[in-house]
Amino acid sequence: MLLRHTPKEIKERKALAVNPAKTCQPIGAMYAGLGIHACLPHSHGSQGCCAYHRSTLTRHYREPIMAATSSFTEGASVFGGQANLLQALLTIFTTYNPDVVAVHTTCLSETIGDDVNQIVRKAKKDGTIPEGKYVVHTATPSYVGSHVTGFSNMVKSIAIQMAEPTGTSNGRVNIVPGFVEPADMAEMKRIAGMMGVNPILFPDTSGIVNGPLTGKFEMYPKGGTSIEDLKSTGDSIGSIGLGAWASADAVKAMDTQFKVPGQVQDLPIGLLATDRFVDALRTVAGVSVPDSVTQERGQLLDVISDMQPHLYGKKVALAGDPDQLIPLVEFLVTIGMKPVHIVTGTPGKAFTKRIKEITAKFGDDINVKTPGDMFLLHQWIKNEPVDLLICNTYGKYMARDEDIPFVRHGFPILDRIGHSYFPTVGYKGGLHLLEKILGVLMDRKDRDSSEEAFELVE
Ligand code: SF4
Repeated sequence: MLLRHTPKEIKERKALAVNPAKTCQPIGAMYAGLGIHACLPHSHGSQGCCAYHRSTLTRHYREPIMAATSSFTEGASVFGGQANLLQALLTIFTTYNPDVVAVHTTCLSETIGDDVNQIVRKAKKDGTIPEGKYVVHTATPSYVGSHVTGFSNMVKSIAIQMAEPTGTSNGRVNIVPGFVEPADMAEMKRIAGMMGVNPILFPDTSGIVNGPLTGKFEMYPKGGTSIEDLKSTGDSIGSIGLGAWASADAVKAMDTQFKVPGQVQDLPIGLLATDRFVDALRTVAGVSVPDSVTQERGQLLDVISDMQPHLYGKKVALAGDPDQLIPLVEFLVTIGMKPVHIVTGTPGKAFTKRIKEITAKFGDDINVKTPGDMFLLHQWIKNEPVDLLICNTYGKYMARDEDIPFVRHGFPILDRIGHSYFPTVGYKGGLHLLEKILGVLMDRKDRDSSEEAFELVE
C-alpha cells in the first residue's frame, strides 16, 4: 500500500529524497566498534539517536546490541557535552569494564562543535581511562554521507589510534573487510587461511553479532579483533581494503602514517571480484593459490554454466551500498543478466562511472543515480519493468506492488534470517547468492507456468 501512489511520470527533484537508500552515519560507526573484542560503542549525543542505532542493528542481527550514550539533555545541547562524556567514561569503565570504548558523535554534538579529541585527552590525563584501556573516537555528522561513511570514519580512527608499530615486520596481512555481514568476515578469513595467510582482519564482527545461544549472557562475546592484533597492524607487510567507500580511508591512512603498503579492491562478491581478492592475497603475502580454492571457483563456474537458460537476459533493478552494488552488478553481468536500474543513497561520483563501465556492453540505456532514492527506483521500474529486484528489506513494498521476484541483500534486512550466517563473498558466497536468485526466479516460473509447461525437472 505504501507505494501504490508512486507516479510513473518522473519529475526532477533536487531538495527532496523519498525513501533514501541509506541510513545514518553513527549506525556504521557503532557496527565497526562492535568488531573490536570487548569494545563498548559509545554514542556522544542524545539518548534517542543511540536507541535508534541500537534498535536498527538489533533488528538486523537479532542480537542484543550493547552501546552507551552521553545522554544529552537541554543543558548539554546548549553548553556542550564534555561533562556528559567524562561522566559516561567513568561510569562505563567502573560498571561495564570494557577494554575499548569506541566513541562516535551525532548530528547534535557535531552541531554544537564538541572537541571529542580534547575531551578524551582530558579523560586520560585525569585518570578516568584506566591503565591498559583504550578510547578511540571518530566524527560522524549524519547530515552528510551515510552509514557507510560512518563505518569508514570509525575504521580509519581504529587504524590510526590503535596501531603501535614496532618497526619489526609481523609477516601478516591487514584485511579491512568493509561494511559486510559477520558471515562475510568469517569467509574472508577462511579463504585467507586456505591460502596459508594469517590475516589481521579489522573490524571483525563474526561471533559477536551472530553468536550462539548459550543460555548465558555475555556482555563481550568471544570474537572481534583483539587489541594485540590492532596494535600490530602497523607492522604488517601490507593491507587489502575491500570496498572503496568503507575501507579506502583506513588503508590509505596506514600507508601514509605507518608505511604499510595498501591496495583497495572491490568486495569479493561474484566470480571476478573474488578472483581479484584471491590474487591480491597471493601477491601481498607471496603465496600460491591452492587446489582447494580453485575447486570452489570451478563449482561456482559450473553452476553459472548449468543455469544459463534461467539467467540470460533477465532484467534486474538494485538498490544498496556502493561497495556492495559494484561487484554485485559485475556478477550479474558475468552470469548473463542485465542490470537496468541501480541506485545508491551513499554519495560518490565514482559509483556512476564504475557502473557505466561494468554495464558498457548494454549501451546508454542503464539508469544509475547516486545519491538516489527508492522512490526514483520504483518510478524507473514502472517505466521499464524488471524480472528481479535486489535490495534491502525496504524493497519488499516495491516487489509487492509491482509483483517482482525479490532477493533481499544489503542493510538492513529486518524480515528474514540467513544474512548473518551465510556469506555472499568468495566463491561459496557467489554460489549462495546464485542459489537465492535462481530460487526466486524459478519459483516465479513455476507459479506462472500453464499446466502443460509446469515441469518437474528444470
Ligand atoms: S539526529 Fe543525526 S545521528 Fe541522530 S539519529 Fe538522526 S540522523 Fe542519526
